[in-house]
Amino acid sequence: RRAKLPYTKTVHDFDFQFQPSISEQRVKETLTCRFIANGENRLLLGPPGVGKTHLAISFAFEALTKGYSALFITAEEMAAECRKAAQKGTLNRLVSRWSRPDLIVMDEVGYFPFDELTANIFFQVVSKRYEHGAMILTSNKSYLEWGKVFGDEVLATAILDRLLHHSVTFNIKGDSYRMKDKKKAGIFP
Ligand code: ADP
Ligand code: MG
Repeated sequence: RRAKLPYTKTVHDFDFQFQPSISEQRVKETLTCRFIANGENRLLLGPPGVGKTHLAISFAFEALTKGYSALFITAEEMAAECRKAAQKGTLNRLVSRWSRPDLIVMDEVGYFPFDELTANIFFQVVSKRYEHGAMILTSNKSYLEWGKVFGDEVLATAILDRLLHHSVTFNIKGDSYRMKDKKKAGIFP
């Protein structure tokens, strides 16, 4: 099954020396894909450029290699799909499409606040997948800010409650890899 990965990166391309806040041990554990069999979640938090999407893709790629079905979608694509489905009256079909794969990767949650419809569909998907369908989320926002992302503190709490129950969070700190060479050249402090 295809995941429509935005690009192919594996953990072999990842420089753990550059990002010491990431536990290589936990990354390796995630790559075993046991979390998928157990319906657990992996959350990657941190500022732009620290490797969240790279690792999410690596995990999805490994899942596909091991024969799991996986779907990769950005928060922006989710919002657009929700609007389209609402117009066509096919929201139920959308929820089941996002509930079905063994693994779903939702990339870039929090870069913009969700509209009410998308926030509600997001909650439905998280509820349906809870304890059986694995999820990977990446976000540039800390959990404290998710109320603002979902436009509703109660909804954000309900989502986080389910997401975090069986999960590992990678709290990535440090510099953007994209700025690495610019920094060396003295363009950035
Ligand atoms: P984020 O999703 O956190 O904004 P990305 O995962 O898109 O960041 O990383 C930005 C770019 O830098 C990508 O091309 C990615 O492959 C690369 N990159 C990030 N961190 C590392 C790292 N530690 N080692 C190797 N490449 C990295
Ligand atoms: Mg990213």
